[in-house]
Amino acid sequence: MTTTVERHSFQAETRELLDLMIHAIYSNKDIFLRELISNASDAIDKLQFEALTNPDLPKVENPHILLMADKAAHTLSIEDNGIGMSREDVVSLIGTIAKSGTREFMNALKENKGKEGIVSPELIGQFGVGFYSTFMVADKVTLETRKAGEEHGTRWESSGDGTYTIEAVDRPSHGTTITLHLKKEDSEDGLHDYSAEWTLKGIVKKYSDFVSYPIRMDVEHTEYDRDADGKMIEGSAKTSIQRETLNSMKAIWTRPESEVSEDEYKEFYRHISHDWHDPMSWFRMKMEGTFEAQALLFIPEKAPQDLFYREGKRGIQLYVKRVFIMDDCKELMPDYLRFIKGVVDSEDLSLNISREILQQNRQIRAIRKRLVKKVLNTLEEMTQNSLEKYYLFWNEFGRALKEGIYEDQENRETLLNLSLFASTNAENELTTLKDYVSRMKPGQDKIYFMTGEDRKTIENSPHLEAFRDKGYEVLLFTDAVDEVWTQSAYKYGEFEFQSVGKGTVELGTEEEKQQAEKELEQKEQEYHSMLEAMQAKLGDFIKEVRLSNRLTSSPSCLVGNASDMSPQMEQMLKAMNQPVPVTKRILELNPNHALTQKLQSVFSANQSDPALNDYAYLLYGQALLAEGSALPDPAKFSKLMTDLLVKAI
Ligand code: ADP
Repeated sequence: MTTTVERHSFQAETRELLDLMIHAIYSNKDIFLRELISNASDAIDKLQFEALTNPDLPKVENPHILLMADKAAHTLSIEDNGIGMSREDVVSLIGTIAKSGTREFMNALKENKGKEGIVSPELIGQFGVGFYSTFMVADKVTLETRKAGEEHGTRWESSGDGTYTIEAVDRPSHGTTITLHLKKEDSEDGLHDYSAEWTLKGIVKKYSDFVSYPIRMDVEHTEYDRDADGKMIEGSAKTSIQRETLNSMKAIWTRPESEVSEDEYKEFYRHISHDWHDPMSWFRMKMEGTFEAQALLFIPEKAPQDLFYREGKRGIQLYVKRVFIMDDCKELMPDYLRFIKGVVDSEDLSLNISREILQQNRQIRAIRKRLVKKVLNTLEEMTQNSLEKYYLFWNEFGRALKEGIYEDQENRETLLNLSLFASTNAENELTTLKDYVSRMKPGQDKIYFMTGEDRKTIENSPHLEAFRDKGYEVLLFTDAVDEVWTQSAYKYGEFEFQSVGKGTVELGTEEEKQQAEKELEQKEQEYHSMLEAMQAKLGDFIKEVRLSNRLTSSPSCLVGNASDMSPQMEQMLKAMNQPVPVTKRILELNPNHALTQKLQSVFSANQSDPALNDYAYLLYGQALLAEGSALPDPAKFSKLMTDLLVKAI
């Protein structure tokens, strides 16, 4: 065969693209290999597909992609036994951009869709930049190819300098070999040595593990002879070359559900999550219609350590047609479901999709919506079919899930239904809101709750006294997130949430309420001057002193207005170094307590008795202690207390 080498110039736009590549538009150079492997896999797909209808084409025997690294020559070759390219193909496909063969092929397929019931093979790559990404890592690229069904091959070569050469060559079989003459500077840092076995293995594992053809590489193995004790005998090293398959090809989410065993799901979960526990549950999804995607999601059994770190990892990996695009895909799962792990594989997105594009992508938003619905449905089913399991789930992830109550307006009702809370109803049991409502007293129109650090502190808080006395159930919210969602006036069905530490208390039937109010008014009149005097003394700390129906056995407590921040929320914000507005609260006194009555008589005897100052301060301090808050001046409190004890003993 006589060969002539022709030199051609790239089109202006190709030169532009090349220039972009040489100065790397991708922050991640490693993906050049993903692109080449995807092209190779497409080429095998194409041959298999065309061989179905064209008897002149060879059947693909042993379809594979071979990586050949030569450290000494500083080259990396990628070979496939796919459909290959004719000379015209090479000129039009490789020498030109924006004329992607894959895209043309897809169009042709669409036109032929349905004919003879042939299913289209999965084809990767819609942008014509894939091949050119090689120039990010190579200063010269040689491509040799022979189209299946043709006799001769073609060799193409370019240094990315605006021109390429093309010539005819002999090639024993169909397929394509692309050889990259690697840039020296990449290998110098050791991390990007694309002729190094472990670098290549790592990239294949990360991006191309689920490509459906074997990606092989010759790997050097060294074995030693061993002595009787099993020790290596020096100088006995024997090296051999073995051809290894680098990818698992196990994209289990694409296989029929019935064919995937439980063990395979578990193994897959461990592979993607790096969690050594089994998953608690998993499910598959197939989205069809205006877009196509599949998902395989897992609910872990144990919460990760970093569940509440702001920068903690999300668990969703995004694939486009089995090719890995990114980890930790925040766009596909809301924050409050950050513990869900799994894979989303889209048929319609472009391989080159970036984070910025993802955020505005309607399809991504639609997928996310479907995923969220499905996760919540799965949890709802769990509450119905295996409550025990749901309790375990709630224990691990409930705190995260409750963030959804304020984050995800659309699913708020569902999330409230899924939430479990401690309650004064039963010591060690959690209750749903639905069950709480079913136990509400006649005439009760609010869901009562109290927030606090832990169950014991809340239960001992004076705020609960009247509720306990009259048999009203109160939900006990002890998670930081409860402070947040209860700040907003959400309702559950028709019922508002009402903190027992805020506002005024009206319990009982209409008649009882009116009666209680009347009695309180009378007492207020009687104690009016004393209350005002106390208020004046404590003006630095509180905004009002009043009598209340909230207390039965304690003398006093502190409450807020309905819109005030709770003291726990204040503490939380302080702990996070957030600015906290000063909210003065209301000191409530129990009109039926002996202490209130004694104060009244001291006050009546001598309105300017200096002891009243101290008593007021002590009452305030004691109310703070009772709810678990810190004293503004512990030393002062303690001194006053001691003085009082001395007088009393
Ligand atoms: P894309 O793959 O996004 O279409 P590329 O620049 O990577 O763009 O490739 C351009 C075209 O060249 C491909 O669409 C395909 O038709 C052809 N091609 C690339 N690599 C191969 C290969 N290994 N075997 C056969 N054809 C290939």
